[in-house]
Amino acid sequence: MKRAAAAGAVLFWAACTAGEPTTTPDVLLITIDTLRADYVGAYGAGSQSTPFLDELATDSVVFTRAIAAASRTVPAHASIMTSQPTRQHSVGHGNGETRLLGIPTLAEYFQAAGYQTAAFVSNILLTRGTGLDRGFEQFDDRLETPELNRPHVVERIAEETTDEAIDWLQSSNPAPPRFIWVHYQDPHGPYTPPEPDQIAVASSEPARDRPLPIGRSNQARGVIPPYQALAELRRPSQYRERYAGEIHYADRQIRRLVEQAQRSAASRPLIILVTADHGESLGEARFHFMHTHTTTPEVAHIPMLLSGPNLPAQRLSAPVGHIDVMPTLMEAAGLTPPEEAGGIALGPIARGESALPDRWLFCDIGGQLSAYDDQGFLRIGGLQGAWRTPGVAAPEIAEARAQRYQWQPGGMWRAQGAGQEPLPPEVRRYAERAVPMVPLEQTPPELDERLRALGYLDD
Ligand SMILES: [Zn+2]
Repeated sequence: MKRAAAAGAVLFWAACTAGEPTTTPDVLLITIDTLRADYVGAYGAGSQSTPFLDELATDSVVFTRAIAAASRTVPAHASIMTSQPTRQHSVGHGNGETRLLGIPTLAEYFQAAGYQTAAFVSNILLTRGTGLDRGFEQFDDRLETPELNRPHVVERIAEETTDEAIDWLQSSNPAPPRFIWVHYQDPHGPYTPPEPDQIAVASSEPARDRPLPIGRSNQARGVIPPYQALAELRRPSQYRERYAGEIHYADRQIRRLVEQAQRSAASRPLIILVTADHGESLGEARFHFMHTHTTTPEVAHIPMLLSGPNLPAQRLSAPVGHIDVMPTLMEAAGLTPPEEAGGIALGPIARGESALPDRWLFCDIGGQLSAYDDQGFLRIGGLQGAWRTPGVAAPEIAEARAQRYQWQPGGMWRAQGAGQEPLPPEVRRYAERAVPMVPLEQTPPELDERLRALGYLDD
């Protein structure tokens, strides 16, 4: 990391605490894998799947238009941890075959400021080779539960991840402040909620939705991806109901975690930010129960809740994104976000001290890119080779055109305008600026084998 930058954070901390409250806050970052915003009650879900998050939302700044940096787990988390959009960090659009290099992380800033740091992850793609472990004294990536249809893919269910995080909170030193990141793999498919959670969200959706065949590939339209297949279930509504059940299960575990974080913080303030890495297609454009393939709202629109002292509860509709997480948490904890941050601290926005500038927020998977503003989004495809020659604009970008879509949170998106239009200059500049992606240095052999089986690595 850039040691000078981290040292700067410490110096600033020493300077800025002089006239400020002396109690530094604990900071809890929760990321939920594959959680679409519209399955959260506070975002309009009718399924009762998130009683705890809805309670938390009443005390939080609810960002109603939060956009994921990618619809893939590792790039999205890399943007959360570095405040850089997908094309500006070395993970790029890679999802298990690239790693983070050269940019200080949120955890490193907190560590340099004297925080105890710990992370608990539950997805095989987030294990330590990605570089996302940097700055964490404890990085718990012990995953042992085989997935239902892919036994070589291990994960960790929410209850076990929560148990580990609670143990750490209880045993950590009460003197220094804590930064803790907990990642939940539920509701990522296959959707297998415990029975009580499934019952809790059982819907009265009509049973006449047309059954789908099981596909041969995890990336095909009009089918149930094989890794998602559940016994004899074939109707989309049965899957959507179980997806909501998984969310209900995660929500129950998040309640346990937050209650312990509050107990451990004791008299110390507690800042909580809850978000998702990306959403999930549940039939949009005939893609069922999958992500990674597109940048449209069903995968790009994520929940984002922020609570803590001096953060007045409200609903804010200005577009925000993963790149805002680092500056937001640093500012809320009294640290100065680095000048290089790509995002904006959202606390001053929530307090009415400043306004968000006009800007685009990018959901980016390499070959396809969507740029979101407060009206809708522009979608640009055909960028496959744009990462080939870093620093040099690829021909795809010179010729790229975008289609504008109208979108309101909770609503369907639809094409707007006369058709393909030239890229706005800021969008073109973003697309041209891709930094080199850095391959994983050393993958543990067993992880390598699993990634290859998933199709992430070439033979
Ligand atoms: Zn994910």
